[in-house]
Amino acid sequence: MKKQPLCLAPGRKFRLRDFDAGYRGGIKNKKNARKELDENIAVLADLGYRLYAEDRRSLLLVLQGMDTAGKDGTIRHVMRGFNPQSCRVTSFKQPGVEELAHDFLWRVNLAVPRKGFVGIFNRSHYEDVLVVRIHKLVPKSEWESRYERINLFEKLLRDGGTTIVKVFLHISKEEQRRRLQARLDDPNKRWKFSRADLKERGYWNDYQRVYEAALTRCNTEYAPWHVVPANRKWYRNLVVSRILRKTLEKMSPQYPPAEEGLERLVVE
Ligand code: AMP
Ligand code: MG
Repeated sequence: MKKQPLCLAPGRKFRLRDFDAGYRGGIKNKKNARKELDENIAVLADLGYRLYAEDRRSLLLVLQGMDTAGKDGTIRHVMRGFNPQSCRVTSFKQPGVEELAHDFLWRVNLAVPRKGFVGIFNRSHYEDVLVVRIHKLVPKSEWESRYERINLFEKLLRDGGTTIVKVFLHISKEEQRRRLQARLDDPNKRWKFSRADLKERGYWNDYQRVYEAALTRCNTEYAPWHVVPANRKWYRNLVVSRILRKTLEKMSPQYPPAEEGLERLVVE
């Protein structure tokens, strides 16, 4: 089986049809993925704790994807090892009056992780070049300039000590149909269903196009996009855990040095 890339080099054009949402990297089933996922989560817990102790840098995970792509599920299953004391999830909804009175990056800047923290964006500033374009919420002159402003913003964050990991959870249209239907059929999932989801589904092709534009134009060496095959939840979880593990291992956070001479102190 051909190996599917997770990232593209900056400058190359993302075409989502080139990525198979059902890809599972040669792993047969959930059982085979379970052990590695658990192992990754244990490593993430340790690295996250070191990041907190070090208190100098932060990690930001940006999660995007179509409705039902599994943003909430990824957070529930992959982030469970992180210490609630140093991990913060921000779910971006439709902006309110106060938010609309500011530039689109204002509310995002307020939510970036503090030093030592892991920040997770469940949706993000990318909505401002996605849903905003589909529904023509701002004029072209405004959204057109946002790609570059996002790149500059992410560069500022990186320069300030935040490592940014961007993940697009890639599902097929058929898989979204199944998941929306499951939300309708299962009384315990019905709370998640909104009629608006059906309307948005009608814009499927338009969304794929604006996603391709965002992935292509905001794919930088300092904040690259990953396209994670997400039709299979267990594979999605495994891949996101791998990306985070690799990123945190590369950051290699260290416990800060203790004061000198402590090893000779005895508490009476
Ligand atoms: P959910 O993630 O299901 O809770 O839904 C949140 C909704 O808020 C989605 O329909 C998003 O498209 C919408 N949303 C998030 N950010 C923005 C934004 N900047 N402008 C307009 N709609 C947004
Ligand atoms: Mg929703």
